[in-house]
This record gives sequence, C-alpha cells and structure tokens, in this order.
Amino acid sequence: MSVLQKEAKNPARKENTFDDAKIVVQNISRVFHVRSTNTIAPEDFVAIKDVNLKVRKGEFLTIVGPSGCGKSTLLDMIAGLAKQSSGELYIDGKLITGPALDRGIVLQGYALFPWRTVRRNVEFGLEIKGIRKSERADISQNFIKLVGLKGFEDRYPYELSGGMKQRVAIARALAYDPEVLLMDEPFAAVDAQTREVLQDELLRIWEETQKTIIFVTHSIDEAVFLADRVAVMTVNPGTVKEIVDITLPRPRNGIRSSPEFGWIRHKVSELLQNGNDQEKARITDQDVAEKISPSVEL
Ligand code: ADP
Ligand code: MG
Repeated sequence: MSVLQKEAKNPARKENTFDDAKIVVQNISRVFHVRSTNTIAPEDFVAIKDVNLKVRKGEFLTIVGPSGCGKSTLLDMIAGLAKQSSGELYIDGKLITGPALDRGIVLQGYALFPWRTVRRNVEFGLEIKGIRKSERADISQNFIKLVGLKGFEDRYPYELSGGMKQRVAIARALAYDPEVLLMDEPFAAVDAQTREVLQDELLRIWEETQKTIIFVTHSIDEAVFLADRVAVMTVNPGTVKEIVDITLPRPRNGIRSSPEFGWIRHKVSELLQNGNDQEKARITDQDVAEKISPSVEL
C-alpha cells in the first residue's frame, strides 16, 4: 500500500504528516552507478542520502551547499526530471511522477530558444497549454513588463545581456502561472551588480504573485537575503544538515548591510564549514552574536 493510500484511509494522519505543505520530500536518496577506479564492475555513489524537507505554500525556501552536495539532483527530482532511488516526493499531497505545468523551472545558464524572440520564448508554455493567440499576447506582455523588459519583445536571445536573458527565463517560467517555481542557481552567470538587481526583482515578483519558490544557490548571501528559510546541505553524502529560519523583516531592501544580516550569514557559514561535525554545527543565535559583538543581545 502506498503512503497516499494509507493517508486516504486515515485522514487524521494525513494532517499530521503533511501539515498542508505544498511540497514534501520524504526520505529521499539518490544513488548513481559510476565507473570504479579499481574494478570493472560499477560502484554505487550516494549523491543524496535521507533528505527530508517540507515547503509551505507561498514560502521562499533556499537551498545552499557546496558544489557537488546534490542541490541540482534534489531540485531535478522535485521538478520530476529525475527519479529518486528511494523515498517519495509530493506536491499538494500527490506523488510527483514526472514534470508538469504546476512547477515552473529556471535552470542555470538561460536555456532560451535561440530561434524565438523574447515574446515567443515567454509564450512557449502558453502555447503548450493551448491558449489562443490574442490571450497569449496579453499574458506575455504582462510578464515581460513585470521583469522589466518592455521594449525588448522582438529581440532574439543573442541580442540580450546575460541578466536580460535570465529575466526572459523567469518571465517564461512565470507566464503559464505555475504554483511552484524551481530555480537552480539562476543568477550564477551574471555579474554581482545585476545579480542584486535580479534578487530584488525576484522578491518583488514573489510578493506580487505569491508563488512557492525553491531556489538553489551556493552563495550564502543570496540564500539568506531571499529566504524565509534556508536549507543547509552538506556533502559526502549530500544531505540537509539543518534548516535555518530567516527572521529578517521584509521588504529586504538595504538589509544586506545590517548587523542582523551579518549574524545570520555567519551562522549559515559556520553550519557549512562544520558540516560534518555534529557538535560544532549546533550553534545558537547567542553564540553567533557573542562571536561578532559580545555586547549584543538577540
Ligand atoms: P550540486 O548541484 O550541489 O553541485 P549535483 O546534484 O549536480 O551537485 O551532483 C551531486 C553529486 O552527484 C556530485 O558528486 C555529482 O558528481 C554526482 N552526479 C550528478 N549527476 C550524476 C550522474 N548522472 N552520474 C553520476 N554522478 C552524478
Ligand atoms: Mg548544481
């Protein structure tokens, strides 16, 4: 009997298990068969081990961790683009069995269609949904405006800067109105200044559209700045070590230079550095405050 069938038989248990979460990741592991250096037979490589995660509806969750800790592998499974070796994933209490239009995906490195203009890139998902031409034009125009690309509708991707291409990718993912947005290091390839602009814009769009966002990054600053909660992943094996509540007020404009931002940033950084040391990883807010400024009370 599947977990869902069990839940259906016992609704009280369903409430306890899912807490109305939008996305549930339950005991997920992913094993790759890789070439062995010593033997002919392939070896098992555990990329992700026992990951548990619940993402609330409307939440902005970031996942931060070093390169190779399994961030993309995890996101691909939530997107339904890759299959886990064990465990289960749910969206709205239903098993995730493949990609669907309820989850919009923005991957690293743009992946726009080079033969389509900005407008036709943004309309792609709408075409798949079978929305008629005039309505498509209205919707795409709205999202092009939302990401600040009004006037660039007829340009091709090669005529745009990196930051602009990334905005098109975001508009394309938003245009067909998915409830969930999955973003894998979407700003990694743009310069630092543009990156901050895009982060501000993404927060504005999130507040306006009330999507649930799971955003993968290896930048601690970015993870803390954007999130309601940061899931800290560590490597060998890739797992979620701790989830940190980000209690910084919103809107977050100007918060990067505040002491509170510095403390939380430091806490996440310590968790990452001491990833495989359980004792050291147990840092309290008070420990962090004392380290940075002994007189500060949290
Ligand atoms: P991240 O996104 O955190 O940098 P990935 O999810 O891309 O990490 O990869 C996690 C680990 O799994 C890495 O060690 C990577 O080499 C390995 N890996 C990812 N995809 C494959 C694959 N198709 N075959 C074998 N190993 C893989
Ligand atoms: Mg990755």
